[in-house]
Amino acid sequence: MRKASSGCGQLSLTVTAKPLRVSACYCCGCQKRTGSAFGAQARFPSRSVTFSFAI
Ligand SMILES: [Zn+2]
Repeated sequence: MRKASSGCGQLSLTVTAKPLRVSACYCCGCQKRTGSAFGAQARFPSRSVTFSFAI
């Protein structure tokens, strides 16, 4: 099981599946999305991801 959260802790998610794909990309879209020289990403099946919002 994998867990992630935002810096302030109000948004968190849990993933129960293994990644479908892990990649690093330097296309213009990934540079814009991340504000960096490249974007690193892991993709998971949507049904394996659970979001939680703290109000
Ligand atoms: Zn890209």
